[in-house]
Amino acid sequence: MADNVNALPFFYGNITREEAEGYLRQAGMGNGLYLLRQSRNNLGGFALSVSNSGRCYHYTIERQQDETYAIAGGKSHRSPVDVIDYHSQEMDGLVCLLKKPCNRPKNMQPKVGPFEDLKENLIREYVKQTWNLQGAALEQAIISQRPQLEKLIATTAHERMPWFHGTITREDSEPRLQNGSRTNGKFLIRQRDSNGSYALCLLHEGQVMHYRIDKDRNEKLSIPDGKKFDTLWQLVEHYSYKPDGLLRVLTEPCSRPDGETGLMVRPLLPQDHPRFGSAISRGSQHKNQDGVNPYEIGRYPPSNQAASKEAMPMDTEVYESPYADPDELRSSTVNRDQLFLEDGELGSGNFGTVMKGIYKMKKTEKPVAVKILKNDDNNPSVREEMLREANVMQQLDNPYIVRMIGICEAENLMLVMELAELGPLNKFLQKHKQTSIKNITELAHQVSMGMKYLEEHNFVHRDLAARNVLLVTQHYAKISDFGLSKAVAEEQNYYKAKGHGKWPVKWYAPECINYFKFSSKSDVWSFGVLLWEAFSYGQKPYKGMKGNDVMQMIESGNRMESPVNCPPEMYDLMRTCWTYKADERPGFSVVEPRLREYYYDIAQ
Ligand code: AMP
Repeated sequence: MADNVNALPFFYGNITREEAEGYLRQAGMGNGLYLLRQSRNNLGGFALSVSNSGRCYHYTIERQQDETYAIAGGKSHRSPVDVIDYHSQEMDGLVCLLKKPCNRPKNMQPKVGPFEDLKENLIREYVKQTWNLQGAALEQAIISQRPQLEKLIATTAHERMPWFHGTITREDSEPRLQNGSRTNGKFLIRQRDSNGSYALCLLHEGQVMHYRIDKDRNEKLSIPDGKKFDTLWQLVEHYSYKPDGLLRVLTEPCSRPDGETGLMVRPLLPQDHPRFGSAISRGSQHKNQDGVNPYEIGRYPPSNQAASKEAMPMDTEVYESPYADPDELRSSTVNRDQLFLEDGELGSGNFGTVMKGIYKMKKTEKPVAVKILKNDDNNPSVREEMLREANVMQQLDNPYIVRMIGICEAENLMLVMELAELGPLNKFLQKHKQTSIKNITELAHQVSMGMKYLEEHNFVHRDLAARNVLLVTQHYAKISDFGLSKAVAEEQNYYKAKGHGKWPVKWYAPECINYFKFSSKSDVWSFGVLLWEAFSYGQKPYKGMKGNDVMQMIESGNRMESPVNCPPEMYDLMRTCWTYKADERPGFSVVEPRLREYYYDIAQ
């Protein structure tokens, strides 16, 4: 979809209107000749340039809030390509039908805008500074939240630009522009108030001109009667290449005085951030060692980080292990006097009940889930099973897997785990039918990230299903229930069960049933069923069928049908996960990037 436009031969990337006209002219200016380029004012939007009767016309294809695309006032479409397809059949307000694509010259790649170059660096710095993450935790955060982070960065990037001077007065801005070089077009932007009103201050023939920049109801920024932009950096980029109503183009950014940050109202203080209180203690060890980054200007995250509406996984207390803080001693046992059980069950399973509790650590208190072994169960094998589960969990440390905090031996044997309060994914989706496809894809992608980690560490889960994915928030999933999980030898890479147990047959690959053979590839099969459950909002797979019937259905080459309204890309992935032969089935190293690509596509 929108992200694949780079592959379109008639997409030119971040070129100006004049450059677009140049390419159309070179290609002969035929009627209906068109090209697509990145919008320079609408975030995530495009511009369509068309020639007709010797003239060029330009239309913005806006990316709308519901993630559809439309030429202002026109019909909405799923992608910019659909807009083009539509207008090759219907003029519907356009100057002519789109007839022939004007393809890029040979060997020319779509032009990358200046922000694209900066973006990677900004995202990394932002995540490092905001959540004090490093190493694998940092990488995982970027991979799982890239669309949200890109949006945040795009709307806050100006705070890191040298031309952004924060809340200074008109009087203060003038000497800044008059000092040093007095080049015509030297400029800065200052903030006028906290309602999103700014001023562009521009040096012209030795005088400072002040242009108001206002934010309208749709959050668009513009100089009165001027073009509207989603971000300040787009506005600066635009007026740097054409005056478009200003006295002159912007030429030289006037840099902030040394050491001053561009932060607008006040820096976000550690206590403002959900996790910063605990993260800051680790700050001394985790300080950024990368030397000076020209866009890194302050110790604190950009001020409107707090404006981000939905909590990201990194905002929660369970993104990193509680033992990531070196001041908290890692121990596999929890003292009973550090554990406080609360009333009310979170759920119940084979072993007994799961209760909510508080675990008092040296520095902090953590809400936890406590799996309590039934006391009346004299069967020692159940106890062993629970200890085996604890042993597996203890070896795993990933943001998308429920971590074990420790074992507590007291009135009962208790397994203390991270709390995922919103409970199992299937039940959540049954109750929240309005959950968007994007949201489901985000969660499924997180599960695939956790499974990729298991695969890389040679563990097989053997009970992957939507009921065993627990939600921390609506946007944060963790894999749980390692009761059947096994570590596998690297060389052999599968686990051979001794016999048929109480198995979740509907989630099992043919080789599990036929040969008792379990591997990451059989987990991939289960993941396909999990995807089916997720996109059908928690319905039971193979509804009404017995295990034997399901096996027959699979053996005869049939598979479940696509859930209603499931994106074809996702059903296609399910079918791939249900490849009969394990050897031909992809691993999570392939499944995760495929889900990631689709997620980025629909989320960006
Ligand atoms: P289990 O015995 O692992 O299948 O857990 C039984 C039920 O307890 C689950 O379906 C959840 O509703 C709840 N539960 C288990 N672990 C947790 C957890 N870490 N956080 C919140 N709820 C949990």
